[in-house]
Amino acid sequence: MKTETHTLSQRDKKHLWHPLTQHKLAGDMLAIVRAKGALLYDEAGKEYIDGISSWYTSVYGHCNEFITSKVAAQMQQLDQVVFSGFTHEPAVALSEALIKILPNNQEKLFFSDNGSTATEVGIKMALQYHHNLGNDRKVLLAFEEGFHGDTFGAMSVSGLSVYNGAFEDHFLKVLRLPVPTGENNAEVLLKLQNFITEENIAGFIYEPLVQGAAGMKMYDAKGLNDLLKLCRENQILTIADEVMTGFGKTGKNFASELLEVQPDIICMSKALTAGLLPMAVTSCSSEVYNAFYSEEISKGLFHGHTYTANPLACSAALAAIELLNSAAMQEHIQRNIASHQVFAGKLNRHPKVKNMRQLGVIFAFELDVEMQRYGDLRNRLFAHFIKNGVYLRPLGNTIYISAPYITTNEQLQKIYTSIELALEKF
Ligand SMILES: *Cc1c(COP(=O)(O)O)cnc(C)c1O
Repeated sequence: MKTETHTLSQRDKKHLWHPLTQHKLAGDMLAIVRAKGALLYDEAGKEYIDGISSWYTSVYGHCNEFITSKVAAQMQQLDQVVFSGFTHEPAVALSEALIKILPNNQEKLFFSDNGSTATEVGIKMALQYHHNLGNDRKVLLAFEEGFHGDTFGAMSVSGLSVYNGAFEDHFLKVLRLPVPTGENNAEVLLKLQNFITEENIAGFIYEPLVQGAAGMKMYDAKGLNDLLKLCRENQILTIADEVMTGFGKTGKNFASELLEVQPDIICMSKALTAGLLPMAVTSCSSEVYNAFYSEEISKGLFHGHTYTANPLACSAALAAIELLNSAAMQEHIQRNIASHQVFAGKLNRHPKVKNMRQLGVIFAFELDVEMQRYGDLRNRLFAHFIKNGVYLRPLGNTIYISAPYITTNEQLQKIYTSIELALEKF
């Protein structure tokens, strides 16, 4: 379809409205025509290393043949069917595979379409759990700077409020805690104790150990354990939002495995389907499920999307979990972790590198330069990486890597070199 005068980027401008974009200030969208492994190719043929796995989805590499062949076969067999009143092999097989890798207390899975709906369902489970039990608990608890999605419930519990101005009057009631850093653990715990005496809290939603959208902010496991324990003791349901951290990114299948207290509810999406199709799962314990299991119809969870448990998405997820479980993929994950550690050693004393941190394959630091001097620093950094054939998406002055597990050592090196060049240039 490409003509000499109209590139995809140009045709795009006529009718398309992009996410998270102020079009009056944004430049042209980069047109990607192909992807393979860790690489994206634009319409001029230039290649980019996908240093953030296309928003943490394509962790086994783009157009992975094992996954695409399974989905292609499923496409010939059963494309879509209503999941209320019907079931099918891909959903059943996926439930069996997921339960095997989820924390032990997880027993039931509820499907939806994306990360926001996964957390929305988690929030509804927590609120209705207490409603069904006759408890008067309507308040939610969340971390400052957390991010849980863009629908109303998810926005309400998200702490990054810069974009929420037009909607704030319509939010759920949410109490906020700072993340425990190690130093402030006692203070944060005391704050929760005070909340508990004053308010009737239904559930606590948190991104376990890493706050993605806040800039890959990592926080203290012991502090989180103490909060989760106190929640348990006070019948506050705990909802782990593992939409970003799930499926190997922290070195474990789920970040919750790095904690002592297991959550009541877990939200998953992003890498669940390996970047192939949108889908999400909210899992829960028997205890949560049993509060809905009743002769009264109205105690059921009356939530359902048209594409719930789409067979193609389920077959993608099933193939993805098979890959994740393979020794080869676990070796890739360990190789990425070790590689980042070597790079971290190199940057360790760099005067412009601040708050360097790593958990699993996620590596991040802040570029310590005067923001005023560079004005639009984030956009200039982004342009620098793109020019160097690396797709990184800095958040403010935070530079982070969360590349596909199959990224080769040479490709990782190219990412590191582009970062070292940025350190020289800015
Ligand atoms: C991306 C993300 C979401 C929202 O997922 P969408 O699929 O974009 O709706 C929710 N929680 C976390 C932790 C995320 O990283």
